[in-house]
Amino acid sequence: MTGEGDIPDLCGLRVMAVHAHPDDETILTGGTLALLAAAGANVINVTCTLGEEGEIIGDLWQGLAAAQADQLGGYRAAELSNALGALGVAAGPVFLGGVGAWRDSGMEGSESFSHPRAFSRPDPRNDEAKSEQLAALIDAHRPQLVITYDPVGWYGHPDHIRAHTLTYAAAERARWAVPRIAWIVVPLSVLEDDVRAWEDPAASGRLLPEPPLRPAALGDLPGWPDEEVTHVVELPAHIRARRDAALAAHATQLQLHPDPTGDAAPTHLALTNNICQQLPVREHYVSFDLAGATNTVHDVGGAGRTWRRDPLVLDPESTRPVRGACMSADGEGATPPVWDGLVEDLEGARGGQPHE
Ligand SMILES: [Zn+2]
Repeated sequence: MTGEGDIPDLCGLRVMAVHAHPDDETILTGGTLALLAAAGANVINVTCTLGEEGEIIGDLWQGLAAAQADQLGGYRAAELSNALGALGVAAGPVFLGGVGAWRDSGMEGSESFSHPRAFSRPDPRNDEAKSEQLAALIDAHRPQLVITYDPVGWYGHPDHIRAHTLTYAAAERARWAVPRIAWIVVPLSVLEDDVRAWEDPAASGRLLPEPPLRPAALGDLPGWPDEEVTHVVELPAHIRARRDAALAAHATQLQLHPDPTGDAAPTHLALTNNICQQLPVREHYVSFDLAGATNTVHDVGGAGRTWRRDPLVLDPESTRPVRGACMSADGEGATPPVWDGLVEDLEGARGGQPHE
């Protein structure tokens, strides 16, 4: 187990995160990316769009919106640069196909969804280009671990879902055989604990937010079944501080509660829906490994390469992934391994071999 502030040496480890919009990297995976970077891993964060269609918090930058000056994307690219700097991701922003190649699709059915460069617009030629672009980044970086959204894209944004399927398509296409793909998820129990803690804010040491911000209620935020989580990344306080600084860099997209310029450290963030979601003290993953000859396989990527859930336990009667062996190694219901499990058992893969 890794103690508070005790960071292992992960020099030589290469990790890629694939996200749809600037801010997702920090909201969902900021702690993990900061921790990996602090441990010496080579971290690359790929962002697929500039987030042009995002709603804007506050009055100052409202005129940048897509329906007005349509300058939000460029501004968010700068926010992303600052956030990655705060996280310690030295490579800085990397955009799929280069900056501005693909555009935030907005929600399905919106006018933006049919934009010629919309990231999620169905178009076989564009799909081909996107997977070629991400495969080229995979071959250049040769990551032993790729992190992206779950198949429902956290809360269902089409660009998040597209980033998930694109990751598998590119891993399939690349010459480099990515050994592990991990989905970032928020366990349902974490959401439930947060909602319960609002019932007695004093006991939980919380400040109630001022309207229009409000505490989350059950069902407000998307969660993932706890029993499917394979890895938990513990975030030491100094790493959470970096993550919080990175969150503050995305000021057009989120606000922190309490206000970080005050005395109390922020405990929650709110997007433009004004629902307070807890800043994670640990980040959770469901990970899958590329199937080898001796592994039980589980096809989660569609046609082509098969991926086994890590570690390799599969219910032969079901297509659903089941609780992994690492979670039951110490007895049924044992807690999943701490963060280093996500990368330390990749040690043998660090030298990794490209497949033909
Ligand atoms: Zn997003």
